Amino acid sequence: MPHELDDVDIGIVTSLQQDGRKSFRQIVRELNISTPTVQARYHRLVSIGLIKSISPVIDSANLVDRQKEKFEKGDRHESHSMNLKSGMSVKMKCDLCGRLIGDKPQVFKFANFERFFCCNTCKTQYKEKNRGRIQSIIEKAKE
Ligand SMILES: [Zn+2]
Repeated sequence: MPHELDDVDIGIVTSLQQDGRKSFRQIVRELNISTPTVQARYHRLVSIGLIKSISPVIDSANLVDRQKEKFEKGDRHESHSMNLKSGMSVKMKCDLCGRLIGDKPQVFKFANFERFFCCNTCKTQYKEKNRGRIQSIIEKAKE
């Protein structure tokens, strides 16, 4: 089941597209939703792979021509020029095997993270493979 974007998701992404260094608090104020909601939604958007990274917004007016060309062809295009609409869906891939996830994703939640898998076998294998890392993330979240 692809993750369907709603207005809150779109609001967060749009807000971060304007300024990737924005704090959760600024987004909370802008969108008038609670901090836990913004945090949970943000982490989910990262988990499902829509938000790849928060990249700086480059003001190409400040660059000399050769670099400007480079930026226009490069990363900037990918992360800052998407027009997202409510109801769009994000295709999710299994966090272990990379296959597209079907109607019933297996979800594994720990701390602030959610991981999605195509089947229970992948979920179990992922947990075993990353046991140490998951444990330390959970410990850190408790502090
Ligand atoms: Zn899988």
